[in-house]
Amino acid sequence: MRDKRYDILFEPVKIGPLTAKNRFYQVPHCNGGGYRDPSAVAEMRRVKSEGGWGVIFTEQVEIHHTSEITPFIELRLWEDKDIPSFVKMADAIHAHGALAGVELAYPGVNGPNLYSREVPMAPVNMPILTFTSDPVQARAMDKEDIRNLRHWHKLAYRRAKAAGFDIMCLYGAHGFGVIQHFLSPRINQRTDEYGGSLKNRARLFAELVADARDEVGDTCAISVRLSLDEMAGIDGFTNDHLRELVAMHAELPDVWDFAHGTWEACSGTSRFKEEAAQEDLIRGLKQLTPKPVVGVGRFTSADLMVRQVKQGIIDFIGAARPSIADPFLPRKIDEGRIEDIRECIGCNICITGDMTMGISRCTQNSSFMEEWRKGWHPERMRKKAAAKRVLVVGSGPAGLSAAHRLGLRGYEVALAEARTEVGGRVTLESRLPGLSAWARVRDYRMGQIQKMSNVEVYKDSALTAEDVLGFGAAHVCVATGATWRRDGTARFHLKPFAIAADLPVFTPDDLMGGAKPAGQVLIFDDDHYYMGGVMAELLLKLGCKVSLVTPSTKVSEWSTNTLEQGFIQKRLLESGVDVRVTRALMSAGNGAATLSCTYTGREEEIACDALLLVTARNPVDGLVHALNAQSAAWADAGIETVKAIGDAEAPSSAIAWSTYAGHRYAEDLDEPDPGDAMSFRREIAELQS
Ligand code: ADP
Ligand code: SF4
Repeated sequence: MRDKRYDILFEPVKIGPLTAKNRFYQVPHCNGGGYRDPSAVAEMRRVKSEGGWGVIFTEQVEIHHTSEITPFIELRLWEDKDIPSFVKMADAIHAHGALAGVELAYPGVNGPNLYSREVPMAPVNMPILTFTSDPVQARAMDKEDIRNLRHWHKLAYRRAKAAGFDIMCLYGAHGFGVIQHFLSPRINQRTDEYGGSLKNRARLFAELVADARDEVGDTCAISVRLSLDEMAGIDGFTNDHLRELVAMHAELPDVWDFAHGTWEACSGTSRFKEEAAQEDLIRGLKQLTPKPVVGVGRFTSADLMVRQVKQGIIDFIGAARPSIADPFLPRKIDEGRIEDIRECIGCNICITGDMTMGISRCTQNSSFMEEWRKGWHPERMRKKAAAKRVLVVGSGPAGLSAAHRLGLRGYEVALAEARTEVGGRVTLESRLPGLSAWARVRDYRMGQIQKMSNVEVYKDSALTAEDVLGFGAAHVCVATGATWRRDGTARFHLKPFAIAADLPVFTPDDLMGGAKPAGQVLIFDDDHYYMGGVMAELLLKLGCKVSLVTPSTKVSEWSTNTLEQGFIQKRLLESGVDVRVTRALMSAGNGAATLSCTYTGREEEIACDALLLVTARNPVDGLVHALNAQSAAWADAGIETVKAIGDAEAPSSAIAWSTYAGHRYAEDLDEPDPGDAMSFRREIAELQS
């Protein structure tokens, strides 16, 4: 059972009129589902309730149609009609005794209103501040607007209470909520009683909290979520301003919830931010108020959580990503199963679901957002349909996930790996600069597999089709991965182009295998996720001079969706990489390469002693093709199915696609053929007359 040193994490904590059963506080987080997928988001939170969280929050909830952040999909509480989906959510959160929190947001200058077409409002007349630089400005709010804003908040408090929510949180962090805009001297340049001094800039904040207290404070707790620092230098709402504010209004809310200034800074990836990275900014705030304090920091270490509580830094362990990667994190600590925790790797693939308006997925927890859509669960699997043996070939993230999940289902599983170490790309990539946390994908799964008597792992076992036919498995799951292409083919060049035969050409596989290019190395990045930038860092460490050429307007463009792009480009520029954006590599040889501007076609030459191609990947599908070619021999070999999964089926630069493929293989095995039916449930809007 529970280790005594973690008892402190399970102490009940009073929040206003309510008591949280422990210190585990799932702070609001997006999920790409929001109002489009209300049952999916409710079920996702129910699983967290089962996993033992004391407090569980919704994502951002737009309280009024005059401020919304289309195209991003969050929740909407605009009318009474919206209440039923909130009831569903609150009920799901309450299912195992968690308090239900709702994060109420009026985005103001962060809401372009592309859907409602209302004119946005802000403290002053100014352009909308979003990721997308929409051609929209907000008008300055007058006194009547402020009265309306307070009224709309009151409606939201009442609706949220009617839906069954316990904690009302006013959102003023990450630059996404109107109270932060009023608090910021950079944005709030008003000259009336709502602008100027901190007391004035905090007036709206104080009024909205007081209104919440009057409306619902008898039964609900009131929380505020504020930025630790706006990250805008001394012109912004600084950490010192926050300390002044907390001291000034120490008793106003029932709980203070602190997050970092920009979302990028708050939700930094493990490549750029350590666990508990915000500790210095939050330390001392608790001493300014008698009310409990929530802090975040991608916490997955129970000892670190205990230290922060014991040192009086925080009262609640705020967690978004750790609760996504492992919804059962509190229960596992409680039950003394620390080694079973599926630690977040800090990759931010979950955030890409929101940024792309898709639906979130998690590298570590493939059931995330599939709890309702597919009935998946992070801890449990259906029992196997029949006693059958499954051979999984390849132990990368796809093969490891398949073997682990098949093991949970009770199949007899053999996992064969050609190399002396398991983990495939995860093992190799975790040795690259900044990616060590990615090894957790392997370590969690291997840790679980090693406890299973029905899963055997065979290393140094490169299997041929004949080996597989002789193995005696009913199902063969081919997870043999992919290799980086050596011909420059990807998105810009759909066919190979001119590379001189005597020019040293490398791929990321070569460098991960120990190859050491020398001299001036040109990276051609037509993959656009993390690998190009990571390769540049590695080459610098090897002492090379590095040019990074990409047809995109940005380095590692897709990493905008993981909130890393700015950090990556800054790091490369500051470390002396010759960054050439909007350039395609046309030919290379004789110590030089020809680049072409992707807009004008104008050509230029740069020095190039060696080429590193970060382009597309080819599936390693020889085994599956060889097996398919011998399908006539399957019956005698006892084989019923052969299926390629993960990178061996269709490579993805993101590991999450592989872990998902492995999980899905295990879920779908022995299921009846769905025919034309969809593989997941979805919600359809009710038609109005
Ligand atoms: P994925 O992301 O799809 O899991 P990886 O490239 O990470 O793919 O992993 C594939 C793994 O499969 C590698 O560890 C590789 O060594 C292994 N592998 C490839 N071919 C064979 C084979 N014929 N027999 C056993 N293992 C193989
Ligand atoms: Fe953590 Fe990555 Fe999962 Fe997000 S997707 S919760 S960052 S492991």
